[in-house]
Amino acid sequence: MPSLTRFANANVRAMHAYTPGEQPSGEGWVKLNTNENPYPPSPQVIEAIQRELANGGARLRLYPNPTSRPLRAALAQMHGVPAEWVIAGNGSDDLLNLLMRVFAGPKKPAGMTVPSYSLYPVLARLQNAPLREIPLDRSFQFDTDRVAACRANIFFLTSPNAPSGVGYPTAQIAAVARRFRGMLVVDEAYVPFADEDAAGLVAKFPRVVVARSFSKAYGMAGVRVGYVLARPEIISLLDRARDSYNLDRLSQTAALAAVSDRAYYQRTIQQVVRTRDAFLADIRRLGWSAPPSQANFVLVEPVNAAGRRGAAVARDLFAFLTQRRILVRYFGNHPLTRAALRVSIGTDTDMALLLNAFQSWLQPATPR
Ligand code: PMP
Repeated sequence: MPSLTRFANANVRAMHAYTPGEQPSGEGWVKLNTNENPYPPSPQVIEAIQRELANGGARLRLYPNPTSRPLRAALAQMHGVPAEWVIAGNGSDDLLNLLMRVFAGPKKPAGMTVPSYSLYPVLARLQNAPLREIPLDRSFQFDTDRVAACRANIFFLTSPNAPSGVGYPTAQIAAVARRFRGMLVVDEAYVPFADEDAAGLVAKFPRVVVARSFSKAYGMAGVRVGYVLARPEIISLLDRARDSYNLDRLSQTAALAAVSDRAYYQRTIQQVVRTRDAFLADIRRLGWSAPPSQANFVLVEPVNAAGRRGAAVARDLFAFLTQRRILVRYFGNHPLTRAALRVSIGTDTDMALLLNAFQSWLQPATPR
């Protein structure tokens, strides 16, 4: 039978899907590979979902609010902007996709720093959009002039950066915004764990768009909610391109309840930050290195018992950890990441187990 792929568009035929981190089946894993929150969502979120399911789930017969209006209003209030400045989506991935569909195409290049979030190239390819890649230096810093001059129609700046965790000061992002001529998307999926954020730039610079996620700080990766802050003209463009019901009832309900329990999230976020900073100190005590992290993960560069670093060393540690049912993430495809492992911040107990495993790996006498 002739291959059905010949019916597909050439760009889709030539591309690969985004590779998500592994979601292992079975219990007993210490799962530190996809930057999920080790703490569950606020109890108010669970109660709100249960209320939505009342009467045998009768409400599920009805379509959800098509614009997620109550959620947009609550998010707008939280950020001190009018509701027309907010759009909610099925995870921030949904909104990154919408931004790419609206602002990138064959004659409208997209841009990103490299390395950063590996979904952007996939989305760009789907739009047949050229990609301008601005390399980060060894400290994961970018050259503001190069970003400003890259002539992308839309640029995705991940801050804090993934997979390094390095956060960029708002003043530096403002410097890019002042000079870059296209749309500047600041992907702030991890910003609740950082010291500063760029949400305030949306009111100052008309082409700045800020994307946020409920997956990390709100402990709701399984619910799929994200949002974007931008000028009403931009929100209106995104509204034209989105699915008519891009957020289901349970997601809207859950996110709305999450936004109203600020106290709970302040506590859990602070806890993750404390655990992260203690873990970073432990890593340095081992004589290993890691960039300063403003996110809920750390890019750890291990040194083995023989004092060696490098890709083979990182891969060896990865395999050792996997054997002990500890899952972290390895990005072997870039020189800045191939000697390192990205470790999501779990509970203090998770991190103690991990450190323990690091110590065992360093003991040559321990049978592997
Ligand atoms: N941006 C970055 C930089 C991310 O790492 C992720 C998580 N993979 C996302 C966005 C997507 O998050 P969400 O779960 O909200 O789609």
